[in-house]
Amino acid sequence: MKILVVGGGGREHALCWKIRKSPLVKQLYCAPGNAGIAQEAELVDIGAEDIPALIDFVIEKAINLVVVGPEAPLVAGLGDRLRAIGISVFGPNSDAAQVEASKAFTKELCDRANIPTARYGKFSDPDSAKAFLDELSPPYVLKADGLAAGKGVVIPETRDEAEAEIDDMMSGKFGEAGKTLVIEEFLKGEEASFFALCDGKNAMPMIAAQDHKRIFDGDKGPNTGGMGAYSPTPIAGYSIIRQTMIEIIMPAIKTLADEGMPYSGVLFAGLMISEDGPKLIEFNARFGDPECQIMMMRLLSDIVPYLKACADSELALMPPMSWHGSAAVTVVMAANGYPGNYDKGTEIRNVEKADELDRVTVFHAGTKRGPDGQLLANGGRVLNVTASGNTYSEAISRAYEAVDTIDWPEGFCRRDIGWRALKTSS
Ligand code: AMP
Repeated sequence: MKILVVGGGGREHALCWKIRKSPLVKQLYCAPGNAGIAQEAELVDIGAEDIPALIDFVIEKAINLVVVGPEAPLVAGLGDRLRAIGISVFGPNSDAAQVEASKAFTKELCDRANIPTARYGKFSDPDSAKAFLDELSPPYVLKADGLAAGKGVVIPETRDEAEAEIDDMMSGKFGEAGKTLVIEEFLKGEEASFFALCDGKNAMPMIAAQDHKRIFDGDKGPNTGGMGAYSPTPIAGYSIIRQTMIEIIMPAIKTLADEGMPYSGVLFAGLMISEDGPKLIEFNARFGDPECQIMMMRLLSDIVPYLKACADSELALMPPMSWHGSAAVTVVMAANGYPGNYDKGTEIRNVEKADELDRVTVFHAGTKRGPDGQLLANGGRVLNVTASGNTYSEAISRAYEAVDTIDWPEGFCRRDIGWRALKTSS
């Protein structure tokens, strides 16, 4: 089989690493990829959002399956275009990808499918948005409706701050994405990410993971794309996963199919595990990054038949996936200054040495090769140092041993990834 993976981050490195292990794969390409992906796949110099060039490439190389990593090309219609020319694609069409592209779309889907989620209102004028605050108690959850690179959610503690924030958001703080606001009740509990494979009609549970969104140790400071993750999750055991499949994933898939927007690909449910069970915070139309890195490390099954079965509506024919029972953790190494301004082009040494450590894999996110073959940082989140172990503490020590092997003075990481799991298991 000839496969093209679209994207160039840590998530796509982990996908390529896992896909490469499949005996079914004859040729693996990745567009645009990164320096780490170059060890697994042939890199193609086409941007993940350059849909016409991707289509031409797929036709020219007679690709059998396209696996789309990030959400932007899905929202822009890459899935639609590929399906229209008969190519198998892992990832939803643009209509179903609205689960990620529009917060209001997902909240309205929750209403129609009776999915447990926070009470909400949708507003396009500041006065009615402010009036809705009377119905809630602080803190208030304000969300820009559209895609805002993971930054469009603000949680003010007081009414005054919330009103000021409504004015800022509606007057363009997040551009067009914030012109419509979703305001939600604040949910209490612990967050988890859950993933299910979907083929338009059926869904198969994968596993849950927990990530660390904040930049600093102790889960403090601004939100980021994710500074680390671990799995399994003590908070989301079998009964929570079962309840999530029954109350959240299956109703969403069925409603989308009934309404002519069949969802195919991976459905990522951001959950709040509350005292009354799981509630949906958001859906995403793709694997989590960095959750995908630990999922690929824990996945025992060959992933390729599952990706193809999702694309070809044959998931019902597949046995459940099998997973390592061991713990996996990933620590994100980022460029100093991230999530604010940071330098690109700084040299990173000893990644190969770290990668050789027992049960460690270093996935690359923003990296590239310099003129002499040296490894250079090329983004905010740069490396995902991923390790497994029989216990959380074993996996975590391995990951930090690898982090300490890497010589990159211009980078940093959190030192407490997995603290919650350690606390629960000790
Ligand atoms: P979202 O982009 O919708 O996932 O929101 C980003 C983050 O904001 C989530 O991961 C939560 O930490 C927080 N959040 C979003 N909605 C709520 C809510 N209704 N109650 C509490 N926290 C929330």
